[in-house]
Amino acid sequence: RGLAIGIDIGGTKVAAGVVDAEGRVLAEARRSTPGSDPRAVEQVIVDLVHELGAGHRIASVGIGAAGWMDLDGGTVLFSPHLAWRNEPLRANLQQLLRRPVLLTNDADAAAWAEWRFGAGQGESRLVCITLGTGIGGAMVMDGRVERGRFGVAGEFGHQIIMPGGHPCECGNRGCWEQYASGNALGREARAFASSGTAEAQELLAGSGGKPEGITGLTVSGFALAGNAASRELLAEQGRWLGLGLANLAAALDPGMFVIGGGMCDAGELLVAPARAAFEENLTGRGFRPAARIELAALGPRAGMIGAADLSRVSGRTHG
Ligand code: BGC
Ligand code: ZN
Repeated sequence: RGLAIGIDIGGTKVAAGVVDAEGRVLAEARRSTPGSDPRAVEQVIVDLVHELGAGHRIASVGIGAAGWMDLDGGTVLFSPHLAWRNEPLRANLQQLLRRPVLLTNDADAAAWAEWRFGAGQGESRLVCITLGTGIGGAMVMDGRVERGRFGVAGEFGHQIIMPGGHPCECGNRGCWEQYASGNALGREARAFASSGTAEAQELLAGSGGKPEGITGLTVSGFALAGNAASRELLAEQGRWLGLGLANLAAALDPGMFVIGGGMCDAGELLVAPARAAFEENLTGRGFRPAARIELAALGPRAGMIGAADLSRVSGRTHG
């Protein structure tokens, strides 16, 4: 009763799950994201729905995708990491699946899940940041996902924090997600790995000897295992994260930030330096209440859980 499939489509991975009305994941499946072809992404979604639907009675399907949805939730206007440009994704999927589909941004889905079932329960002003390929951003304000006038609120990852800085997949330069994300961590680690120091050798050896093989995930794995250089690389990401959160606090004054996405597996190694940088940069610090910064309680599963849940309750809460 009340089971939904939630699918989280990120820049590199598609994660799907059968989710019950309490936000529990009963079954899961994963694929890598076929980056360059919208039709191939649709096919992956169809396969996952069939695979997971085989053993369960599914009432609805929700998709949380790394893209900018229009307010109506029918069209992916744009996606920095994927090939969607004005893509009528919901209609395409409804035709392929022959059932209604809810479509939302991946970070919106994660924020919703954390508010309903996770770290953000009871918080009236919640900002959620997901760190994966890029930075996802979302707000749950007074129990509703705040989506802005045109559906694309919360694209915090593309705030320019370094004019002329690293090129971003959105087409601009110096976006926040080029300084704190899985991609940014991978890029910094590859640069470090080419430096020739002993610690760099260790990182290199653990990634098959080639800098190109190093990703953000490699680095968090190494950091968790105690590798000092990887810890420092991760801490640097954490400091950029905290700086961005201070900017968001200046604009939005939330009660809490929840940090989710694949990179939150690094846990305190990432979040402790973020808290320190937040405290150092927050405007009016010492004279104002400051938001808490917590890890997503649902971890990297928040997106799939939120997409599933929104497909059940969307009329009241979303859009
Ligand atoms: C995209 C967002 C997405 C985020 C995380 C960003 O680059 O602009 O829409 O939520 O990556 O996947
Ligand atoms: Zn950008």
